[in-house]
Amino acid sequence: MSSTPNFAGDAETLARAWSVLESVPDPEIPVVSIRELGILRGVERSEDGTLEVVITPTYSGCPAMAHIAEDIAHALERAGLTPHRIKTVLAPAWTTDWITDEAREKLRAYGIAPPGGRCASTPAGASEQTIRFVPRAAAAPACPHCGSAHTERLSQFGSTACKALYRCLDCREPFDYFKPY
Ligand SMILES: [Zn+2]
Repeated sequence: MSSTPNFAGDAETLARAWSVLESVPDPEIPVVSIRELGILRGVERSEDGTLEVVITPTYSGCPAMAHIAEDIAHALERAGLTPHRIKTVLAPAWTTDWITDEAREKLRAYGIAPPGGRCASTPAGASEQTIRFVPRAAAAPACPHCGSAHTERLSQFGSTACKALYRCLDCREPFDYFKPY
């Protein structure tokens, strides 16, 4: 039998790893972190003592994931949190429902309409408060600039495949819509 890993001070190390990782921004939308987007799923100590960071990719094939893995590794190394390993977990699949309410506000302030359609998955009486931006979940996203609901889709794809390009019919500004997924 191999020696038992020393777990003394582990809670502190894991807490430090969390705070380091919370500062890792999304490479495409730097105003929100990978934790706020729901990409960062967990940090744990594996049996061999390696710090294991669990991430779930957003849209499959989103090239940002390679950058995110690199950014995580760099952040941990800078903090002296080694050895570490990044574990990609595909199930349950990432959904825009995992994006925190704070991140939705940040997206809007950044000029990206946050994904709509979080309705059925939030159980009644849940501790979170859902702010509704649009009257109907299936309606076109509200303009992040002026709040108008009069928007039209220009393209299925915006600056990345994860987003669609819309234009506001009132203030005439184009904007990205983070597609619900
Ligand atoms: Zn507008």
